[in-house]
Amino acid sequence: MLDIAIIGGGPAGLAAGLYAVRGGANVRLYEEMFTGGQIVKTHQIDNYPGISDGPDGYALAARFEAHATAFGLAIEYGSVSDLDLSGDPKRFSFNGKTVEAKTVIFATGAQPKALGVEGEARLTGHGISYCATCDGAFYKNRTATVIGGGDTAISDALYLAKLCKQVYVVHRRDELRASAILADAAKAAENITFVWNSVPEAFLGEDKLSGIRLKNRVTGEVSELMTDGAFVAVGIVPRTELLNGQVRLAENGSVETDAHMETSVKGVFAAGDVRNTPLRQVVTACADGAVAATYAMEACRVK
Ligand code: NAP
Repeated sequence: MLDIAIIGGGPAGLAAGLYAVRGGANVRLYEEMFTGGQIVKTHQIDNYPGISDGPDGYALAARFEAHATAFGLAIEYGSVSDLDLSGDPKRFSFNGKTVEAKTVIFATGAQPKALGVEGEARLTGHGISYCATCDGAFYKNRTATVIGGGDTAISDALYLAKLCKQVYVVHRRDELRASAILADAAKAAENITFVWNSVPEAFLGEDKLSGIRLKNRVTGEVSELMTDGAFVAVGIVPRTELLNGQVRLAENGSVETDAHMETSVKGVFAAGDVRNTPLRQVVTACADGAVAATYAMEACRVK
């Protein structure tokens, strides 16, 4: 039986793994597809302390993984299901085999939120994307539109501005939520145009996106913005589906934890973007992972 099973291989899971192997725990990390989580979609990370060369998220994730595995962390790839957190040990099925662990660290992260407007589902993958780093190159020398005003939207707009002829940023207010350094850079970029106080009402086009019908929330005016690509960056949704109601969630759907990252179920910890946290950054995810591993090891000693 494992001391600690970590579910999810983003920064939180990998940091938890590093702390747990270095602490001498019998630990294994279970990842669905590839390590790194959401940062693999980030083109530049320049706010992780001590790393000022601004690596892309993929490169930073590779360093995290190499660091943890160098200390002996075992990572397995596949699908987790049938999570049962009710007793001791905790159990789940992984690629059809049962895994038993004294404690579980849940670090499944979050995924981009959809707007839920007309045409969005139909045109996703046909002009609508949730990842500028993945799909931006399709719009080289063309027009792209980012929807949202947070850090993701503005760093996406800056990334696209290097590739595209013209980038529009459609935001529902007239003030950005993004940090000042990103907001100032976007406002200074010659080929980024802001469309303030506006929300998409519908994505237009049958098989391929041709434009977006926008509504101005102040004037009520409806207009059409012609664009080749649309990048939706309106926030994220914590990935809690595996938990199936077994731990207490906050109103916003993220996992409630105490200061030790322990959830409402003893021996079950949560770390990173899946957790109810006031700040979702790589550095806070790593810190969550370190705290979770420390107290998961403590819980194993007590058992
Ligand atoms: P976010 O901070 O929640 O921002 C979401 C943006 O989308 C907001 O501007 C919001 O408008 C807008 N929005 C939300 N729902 C909408 C809707 N239905 N219609 C139109 N607009 C809508 O999400 P995020 O930018 O993905 O960032 C998530 C977390 O990751 C944040 O903690 C962020 O700081 C972090 N992050 C950090 C970096 C970095 O440090 N470089 C990069 C990426 C992400 P309002 O402003 O009006 O609410």
